[in-house]
Amino acid sequence: MYDYIIIGAGSAGCVLAARLSEDSSVKVLLLEAGGRDTAREIEMPVAFSKLFKGPCDWAYYTEPEVQLNNRSLYWPRGKVLGGSSSLNAMIYIRGHRHDYDHWRDLGNTGWGYDDVLPYFKKSEDNERGASEYHGAGGPLHVAELRSIYPLSETFVEAAEQAGFKRNPDFNGAIQDGFGPYQVTQRQGRRHSSAAAFLHPAMSRANLTVLTGVQVSSILLEGKRASAVSFQEGTASRQERAEREIIVCGGAIGSPQLLMLSGIGPADDLRSLGIAVRCDLPGVGANLQDHPAVPVAYECTKPVTLASAESLANLLRYMAFKNGPLTSNVGEAGGFIRTSSAIAAPDVQYHFAPGYFVEHGFQQITGHGFTLGPTLLRPYSRGRITLRSSNPHHAPVICANYLADPRDLQRMVAGVRVARTVASVNAFAKYRGRELCPGPDAKDDQALGAHIAKYTETLYHPAGTCKMGNDATAVVDAELRVRGVDSLRVVDASVMPVVPGGNTNAPTIMIAEKAADMIKRGAQSAVANEGVLSAK
Ligand SMILES: Cc1cc2nc3c(=O)[nH]c(=O)nc-3n(C[C@H](O)[C@H](O)[C@H](O)COP(=O)(O)OP(=O)(O)OC[C@H]3O[C@@H](n4cnc5c(N)ncnc54)[C@H](O)[C@@H]3O)c2cc1C
Repeated sequence: MYDYIIIGAGSAGCVLAARLSEDSSVKVLLLEAGGRDTAREIEMPVAFSKLFKGPCDWAYYTEPEVQLNNRSLYWPRGKVLGGSSSLNAMIYIRGHRHDYDHWRDLGNTGWGYDDVLPYFKKSEDNERGASEYHGAGGPLHVAELRSIYPLSETFVEAAEQAGFKRNPDFNGAIQDGFGPYQVTQRQGRRHSSAAAFLHPAMSRANLTVLTGVQVSSILLEGKRASAVSFQEGTASRQERAEREIIVCGGAIGSPQLLMLSGIGPADDLRSLGIAVRCDLPGVGANLQDHPAVPVAYECTKPVTLASAESLANLLRYMAFKNGPLTSNVGEAGGFIRTSSAIAAPDVQYHFAPGYFVEHGFQQITGHGFTLGPTLLRPYSRGRITLRSSNPHHAPVICANYLADPRDLQRMVAGVRVARTVASVNAFAKYRGRELCPGPDAKDDQALGAHIAKYTETLYHPAGTCKMGNDATAVVDAELRVRGVDSLRVVDASVMPVVPGGNTNAPTIMIAEKAADMIKRGAQSAVANEGVLSAK
């Protein structure tokens, strides 16, 4: 018997396991479908795309996306300790103040920017030290890139020449502008949520971690979530939770597991022969992601990631943990507004000092560099539904990219700004031919065709178990599943609206806040018991 069972050891699950097991009087069980995070490509920053479609990746595919030439998009997701933080690009971005104030204004008390900033800081060990906006001494190391490519510096200079401001800290007072990214790395190694939070807690006697176990259902006694069921080797196993079950399966895994357990849209569940335990129409709905499109150029000098994989660089990495193999590929970036009337930037740039198209699967001979305009505030919404009642069948993912025409317009604007930045003098000594969209693509229609052909995910699905208080909300502001007792969801799926930036730090923040709420709830339950027994 455990007090807490956490399902999924990803960005959020590792934080919760570490924080809840700080109290030695509670017993915590963490269950992860994937294996241990021992692959060398996890630790070595530049190697993350080598994990794609391998054993650490769920390797999902969306349904054919109508607006993207009916392409079915590949969605990598971590299936390993650390979850997607073990194969992400390590960019440390929190989003804009407006994102969290918006969450609060949607009815989620306690989630405004001033409420969540202390939780970002609590996690953080920023090598720039503590300040109004940053924490030092927390478990998650936030670092400058150790060996940034000069080409990434050129990108920032070019943006300045094009009239944008340099921004030394996207996570400070102002998000707008261009600069190098800070990364979740420690001494040149990836600092995943597992490395930062879970590994230091693994030796605690009150924390049990099981890998290679995919939870197939959450069992309810009446309205209360009481146990989980999973397969361990050939044996079926169940474990009971005395206090709570916390689902941290991510934006795809969490709604899938809720639906497999009978918690979701009643008609959909019935049609698959699943007994309905709680009719929650919002489970799997409200899917949001950040679409990104490459704007890529030939590079006339051999100064890019294309020459990163050499014996000399490997030896340098092994001996000193610096050099090109510490690159996170998306080394620098920027945030712009496509209209002056909006409250926060709506396009983000990811600059790669290399040719990065189709997740790195497409290669060119020679050298290239890529500016990746990314739409931050999509109007389009997708949905995740079950394909079948078999937990081993990947769910149906309908991302519905660009269904709202305003999204395409803003991506076109983002591509135009990327071209402007690439065209200034700062890039003159490196810039060769424009490889994509290509010089012939001039008008909106041609750029739209490029976007339909090349758009891919920037890996930020969110929102499928949204927090709120309307009819489609899945969890309340304490992240408790509506209509079910002793069950919470804590991960990127609870975001009511995807924040304007990369989603790892926001997910870790959500888990930090959830850990506090769970601990406070347990303390007040104990206090209430005391009052009752005194009476
Ligand atoms: C390739 C890639 C690059 C990215 N780059 C960046 C970046 O540079 N910066 C950034 O901020 N964000 C980035 N992201 C996004 C960020 O990593 C994610 O938003 C974040 O990790 C989501 O955390 P999560 O806890 O919601 O889910 P995850 O970290 O995906 O964790 C879910 C975990 O639950 C497990 N699980 C699921 N279902 C079950 C089940 N039924 N039983 C047991 N276990 C289960 C999964 O195996 C997984 O380990 C990237 C993501 C990817 C994939």
